[in-house]
Amino acid sequence: MSTSPKLSIVIPVYNEEDVLPQLFARLYPAMDALGASYEILFVDDGSRDRSVFMLKEQFQKRPHETRCVILQTNFGQHAAILAGFEQSRGEYVVTLDADLQNPPEEVRKLLHELESGSDYVGTYRADRHDVFWRRAASKIINGIREKITPIKMTDHGCMLRGYARPVVNAILSTRESVTFIPALAALYSARPVEIEVAHEERAAGVSKYSLRKLIRLNFDLMTGFSLVPLQIFSASGVLLAFVSAVLFVLLAVRRIVLGPEAEGLFTLFALVFFLLGIILFGIGLLGEYVGRIYVQVRERPRFLIATVLEDGRLPSTVTRRDPEEATR
Ligand code: UDP
Ligand code: MG
Repeated sequence: MSTSPKLSIVIPVYNEEDVLPQLFARLYPAMDALGASYEILFVDDGSRDRSVFMLKEQFQKRPHETRCVILQTNFGQHAAILAGFEQSRGEYVVTLDADLQNPPEEVRKLLHELESGSDYVGTYRADRHDVFWRRAASKIINGIREKITPIKMTDHGCMLRGYARPVVNAILSTRESVTFIPALAALYSARPVEIEVAHEERAAGVSKYSLRKLIRLNFDLMTGFSLVPLQIFSASGVLLAFVSAVLFVLLAVRRIVLGPEAEGLFTLFALVFFLLGIILFGIGLLGEYVGRIYVQVRERPRFLIATVLEDGRLPSTVTRRDPEEATR
């Protein structure tokens, strides 16, 4: 399969042993039905369960359509997708989650849009099947992102998306350490389109995003694509400095006219705590941006590839063994 296929499907996999059999069973028939040449690139993002072993088995079953990129350790979903982009050979690339929340049958719609000339197919989830707090949080974050970043899209959380080769190349040429791929594509595409896609409940297993990872991801999206938070902080700093100056003049005049006054201690506390809160918030915000610079200047690799299974060849060593072997 060294010739380029029409379509590369990139799927990040992190501890997905519960869902992989169902994914394989639905994905391959859906791709075969497309009538276009394709490759499926599974990117194992440092799974510690049997995922690598199962991917290897699937590679043996469908060696000509399957390629597996095994990363050294867990680098995160977006880094895993970048690794997949780097290895992909297709004219178009479609990303998909492993948990079947993005129905593989919907790829047909994306391929149609790409073939009709769009270079980026964004999506939004028609009837989202996630827990209530995730849906509510998403709504808020989507609203904030829409206001403070240049990225305009209905739903940045849906990872079933299509990218034409020039957009993939532009994303790959971006040397950002931590990034958000759909947002980059929105910036780089010339002929974007947005379509509605179906969404399902996770077919098996549990979400690989803890609350901490989710917050991190969304902070990265905001600080990675916008200076507005910093600008709001500096603008409110200027405003507060002005108000403080007026207050100072007022108090100085009262001191001269009325003499020393000792009342209003708690008002003073309230004011000081309020200002302290703003200062601490600002320092935290600055820290976020400084942290980004710190991560960026280290220039550590965004991912490390341990093995690639491809072109019908199975390397003699697949780095991580089936963990169940040890217990058998
Ligand atoms: N994923 C990954 N690395 C991670 C976390 C997640 O490759 O560190 C993959 C995961 O296997 C899945 C996709 O990213 O294919 C989306 O993850 P998940 O479905 O758990 O996220 P949710 O739908 O809960 O947002
Ligand atoms: Mg999911």
